[in-house]
Amino acid sequence: MQNLPTHTAKTELQLLVRGLVYAPGDASYESEAAAFNLATRHTPDLVLAAVNADDVVAAVKWASARNMSISVQSTGHGAANAITDGLLISTRYMLELSIDPEEQSARVGAGIRWRDVLRAAAPHGLTGLHGSTTDVGVVGYTLGGGLPLLGRKYGFASDHVLAFDLVTPDGELRRVDLVSEPRLFSLLRDGKGNFGIVTAMEFSLFPAGQLYAGGIFYDGVHAKDVLAGFRSWTRDLPLGASASLAFLRLPDMEEVPAFLRGTFVMHLRFAWQGSEAEGAALVAPMRAAAPVLVNAVGPLPYDRVDEIHADPQHPVPVREGGMLLKGFGPGLEGVLLDLAGPDSRAPLLLTEIRLMGGALAEPLAGAAAGADCLGGRDAGLSFFTVGIMAPPIAHLVPEAIEAARAALKPYGTGGTLVNLHGHLASPDLAASAWPEELRGKMAAAKAEFDPKNLFRHGHAVLPLVQEAAAA
Ligand SMILES: Cc1cc2nc3c(=O)[nH]c(=O)nc-3n(C[C@H](O)[C@H](O)[C@H](O)COP(=O)(O)OP(=O)(O)OC[C@H]3O[C@@H](n4cnc5c(N)ncnc54)[C@H](O)[C@@H]3O)c2cc1C
Repeated sequence: MQNLPTHTAKTELQLLVRGLVYAPGDASYESEAAAFNLATRHTPDLVLAAVNADDVVAAVKWASARNMSISVQSTGHGAANAITDGLLISTRYMLELSIDPEEQSARVGAGIRWRDVLRAAAPHGLTGLHGSTTDVGVVGYTLGGGLPLLGRKYGFASDHVLAFDLVTPDGELRRVDLVSEPRLFSLLRDGKGNFGIVTAMEFSLFPAGQLYAGGIFYDGVHAKDVLAGFRSWTRDLPLGASASLAFLRLPDMEEVPAFLRGTFVMHLRFAWQGSEAEGAALVAPMRAAAPVLVNAVGPLPYDRVDEIHADPQHPVPVREGGMLLKGFGPGLEGVLLDLAGPDSRAPLLLTEIRLMGGALAEPLAGAAAGADCLGGRDAGLSFFTVGIMAPPIAHLVPEAIEAARAALKPYGTGGTLVNLHGHLASPDLAASAWPEELRGKMAAAKAEFDPKNLFRHGHAVLPLVQEAAAA
């Protein structure tokens, strides 16, 4: 903080904003900085719990004048790396939310979670493009592309953004849409927090219709058959159907249903917007792939979509890692079984492959054509793995994730999804979140909009000038 005593800095900033400012030692400093991922402990110089866009504008101008780094957090679901300095702006109290049933769209403040959107949209027969858990923040998720549960039918969440309200590093509040700011608009749709803080976002909703979805559990001893079944089943799966398969080593904890505690299981996740008869026929081959332990696929109300993936609903200490795969190449099944199958001793709680393709592979059309800034359209599968960062295995997890990445490299596209990238263990790994050409575009724009590299935490590209100097 450029030789500014913390109490002076806190008082200065507090006089400019309505939200509360916290410094280390304040009673609520830890809880305001806390992330969903308990393995990541943020220790910024100051935390501002912003309540509106004016707070964000004032805080960004103030920090920029002091050359102080700025970071942003909503839920902390994406807190892969710790923030250790500067000003952390928490958006969790920015809870604006409105639905326009005529236009089939929503406007949300930066603190809104997907769960809030689904609740507000349901009475209008509408739904949104949330991912595997609705506990995630709508804005942070969408700024990382947003891989939705129904992605193969509708594409990435960021394909359907209509406008952002963005506070750029110079402290200006801009309306960013395809007409007013086409370049920033396209970069933001996979650019995470590189270009400032999004205070609100507008995006399309979709008719909810009927959902046929859920999970099938198999005993892990059948991993080989289930994986082989998944491979041949997904080859012909209609583009509108979504599927993922997880190897799960469930801990002996109260949060896990009693009959699954301490077991190794395979978990198929399936979602189809359509009739029960269609859905049942589609999933039938997977019901026959191996003996089924629990069959929980069926008609599902939208307020229960979190049951499909059954992601944790409470903060947990984890290390995550992900990458994109070309698809089921020869030998991939063997590698996955070695990594996570019945004989694996890797300390990984979950290892997942999610089917890509369908609308996820389609480049933007219409007025947005050619402005596509999203990595991941070329992937056949998304790979993601998670380990619990708690004794006695915590020290083994990072190595196991890197070993998985290395083993899968021959099958990779070379890219990752920003959202499912996981811990940024090295600058090279961080850079792989975007294809090279896109990273160049982002670095050039960063040099223009954030020349001082104030937004340098988390998934950040270096401004072009600094990138050249570093090289
Ligand atoms: C259990 C679980 C399941 C998940 N499932 C999916 C999934 O199915 N599909 C998918 O795509 N992703 C998924 N994710 C990843 C998730 O989308 C990302 O972690 C996302 O960043 C979460 O956004 P957040 O705002 O909730 O998190 P935060 O940790 O609060 O934010 C993460 C990052 O987003 C950026 N950001 C957040 N808010 C703003 C803002 N207002 N302005 C500018 N930048 C901002 C910042 O770079 C910030 O560091 C999952 C994560 C978890 C933990």
